Amino acid sequence: MDGFAIADPRFLRLVLPNAPLETLGEGFRWCEGPVWFGDRDELLFSDLPNDRVMRWSESGGVSVFREGSGFENGHARDREGRLLSCSHRHRAILRTELDGRITVLADRHEGRRLNSPNDIVCRRDGTIWFTDPPYGIQTDYEGGKQVSEAPARLYRLDPRDGSLAVAAEDFDGPNGLAFSPDERLLYVAESGLQFAEAPRRLIRVFDVADDGALTGGRPFHTVEPGFADGFRVDVEGNVWSSAADGVHCIDPSGALLGTILVPSTVSNVAFGGRMGSRLFICASHTLYAIYTNTRGVPLP
Ligand code: MG
Repeated sequence: MDGFAIADPRFLRLVLPNAPLETLGEGFRWCEGPVWFGDRDELLFSDLPNDRVMRWSESGGVSVFREGSGFENGHARDREGRLLSCSHRHRAILRTELDGRITVLADRHEGRRLNSPNDIVCRRDGTIWFTDPPYGIQTDYEGGKQVSEAPARLYRLDPRDGSLAVAAEDFDGPNGLAFSPDERLLYVAESGLQFAEAPRRLIRVFDVADDGALTGGRPFHTVEPGFADGFRVDVEGNVWSSAADGVHCIDPSGALLGTILVPSTVSNVAFGGRMGSRLFICASHTLYAIYTNTRGVPLP
């Protein structure tokens, strides 16, 4: 089956052999942070080093959504449909209100500035979870060199009272994150130091208590080649992860089922489209999409 690498026959019912990998846009510096807006029938995604957020729709193709908003990386939507952004430059979590104004939801913890929030998800209870490695303040390319003031942590933000809590902090470079469909598990990628010769390639999994407390953090899957950056979970609990050779599909036990082969390094993915079954793939300079035979967990 062209375009796929099959590690387990169960992969065959999750993909469509006649659905091609489509190129939706090219010429970006580095695509990241895809998020689907079903009510507007469009995808937003970051062109990170160009400090701009792009928009793609079936009817309108690619256009600029906004520029100069602080080297945005990961995106999500909250329970009211508002855009949540990780800004490297501003070292902050931003929320775009429905009228377009931008609110800073968090930019420091106990007086110390955040590093460079990388990726973000919203739980059904409205809490916002994000990773804060230093990648975006280590180079001018992704936001501008600045001094780190805090460890690389996973944070939980409650926008109802503005409280920011450390959810976990024993990380070697936390990166992408996603909940299981029942939100009892939280997957967090660990990609190590950006310039390390041998990056960490791990996805870890935490148990989530009703009150949001995390335990565990055990190894779930090692992604090779490349490393796990961003990923999403489908309705059956399979993890669709970025990798150097494409998108890896990993079952809830941690076993690799197969790979959607992509010509360039994948940074992040998002399910979207009318049925939630189209997988949008940010891969280096290119935005791709492919129809699958599963659906992403509805977000938020
Ligand atoms: Mg990332």
